[in-house]
Amino acid sequence: MKLILLGPPGAGKGTQAEVLTKQLGVETISTGVMLRAAMRDGTELGKLAKKYIDDGKLVPDEVVVGIVKERLSQDDCKNGFILDGFPRTIAQAEALDAAGIEIDKVLSLEVSDEVIIKRLAGRRECKKCGTPYHVINKPVPEDGKCICGGEVIQRPDDNEETIKNRLKVYHEQTEPIKAYYESRGKVISIDSSHSVERTNEAALKALGLVKQEQ
Ligand code: AMP
Repeated sequence: MKLILLGPPGAGKGTQAEVLTKQLGVETISTGVMLRAAMRDGTELGKLAKKYIDDGKLVPDEVVVGIVKERLSQDDCKNGFILDGFPRTIAQAEALDAAGIEIDKVLSLEVSDEVIIKRLAGRRECKKCGTPYHVINKPVPEDGKCICGGEVIQRPDDNEETIKNRLKVYHEQTEPIKAYYESRGKVISIDSSHSVERTNEAALKALGLVKQEQ
């Protein structure tokens, strides 16, 4: 299964990817997690990415396309993968096509801007491995640390002003991708405004992995 998770920031792409990766038995490739790891490691890529991420802007296409192509060429992606946060522009979607990477399905997680703004305020993330948490929906373990032992933090780009920028960027630059894949008959849309479990159930049904209720 070669799956793209599409949706605005805070739609639950990372959270669903974490569950689906185990259910489908394929790796998740998250550009956000990769870019934040590069920022943490202080690499050239990380320094460049920081300039955009801190303002809620998109990192240039050629940079992101380069790291995704490199990652997808590795052995553990041979039998499938889940893309979380990529593609985010039509040019990125076209780059996948040009590289001969055929996507099976695009799962579009639908949620209103209002719900997103509320959700992102409570969102937390492991600084070390990127596992997502939420103060209400998915609390951090009792010792305050991630399951990997890493420190759990609030992402600096989850502040109100940056969230608004990210939503604007999403509507202007990322949402058109939906039509791009719709015209190829790849899109399945699910409501992602409820619990993690309910969204996951909807995802599995939409992907034909559990029987539809009669
Ligand atoms: P995310 O963790 O997916 O919300 O991504 C956080 C930030 O990383 C975004 O706001 C962008 O600045 C950057 N980013 C992640 N994925 C991409 C992408 N595919 N293209 C451009 N920028 C990206």
